[in-house]
Amino acid sequence: MKIQIITLFPEMIESYFEHSMMFKARDKQLASVEMINLRDFGIGSRKTVDDEPYGGGGGMLLKPEPLFAAVKYAKKNDPDAKVLLMTPRGFPWKQSKAKKYAETKEGLIIICGRYEGYDERIVSVVDEQISIGNYVLTGGEIPAMIIADSIIRLLPGVLGGETSAEVESFSDDKTVEYPQYTRPAEFKDMKVPDVLLSGNHGEIDEWRRRTSRREKW
Ligand code: SAH
Repeated sequence: MKIQIITLFPEMIESYFEHSMMFKARDKQLASVEMINLRDFGIGSRKTVDDEPYGGGGGMLLKPEPLFAAVKYAKKNDPDAKVLLMTPRGFPWKQSKAKKYAETKEGLIIICGRYEGYDERIVSVVDEQISIGNYVLTGGEIPAMIIADSIIRLLPGVLGGETSAEVESFSDDKTVEYPQYTRPAEFKDMKVPDVLLSGNHGEIDEWRRRTSRREKW
């Protein structure tokens, strides 16, 4: 699966994908994560990428020309890729969406906004506008990492046990995973629930069902 991320700060994102499961996914060639530096598509000798908003209001917006050029470049690499725009205006990102993209393995082009945002005309080449929650971050880099991470860990072969993603939180967008324990069986006077040490799988399953609490919000 190919993920291309359009950003002004590639280094912020790159290091994240050089460790742990994300490294493993790339190393095993299950996923590729490539940065496209928006600055390379900047205008003039100063490589300008931003400008003031029409109508006033302060702050700067990403200009349309570099954004369109960067998407065009990414599409040349992967013509069928879906374009996702990171924006608080977007639809909330959910586990079910991560699952869908991990199943289809469609290529993705993720656009990170910065400053006050971007010129709205970019949405004409965007397939989905996505928000990672009702709060505002400084840029789309953290949202892009969240989207990519949540998809990549679901690709077959990335996680240790193939079932580990099946039983975890939000598989149905609602239920959260049951509490888990590891050795030692007793720590600082706190005991692991007896049922988990019982070896009785029927009872263990029942306990796990009971303790899978519902989404709070
Ligand atoms: N002025 C904008 C916020 C700009 S924040 C507003 O009030 O809506 C700068 C960029 O960070 C955004 O363009 C977007 O790409 C990214 N961003 C910030 N918060 C986000 C969120 N909750 N979900 C997805 N992207 C977000």
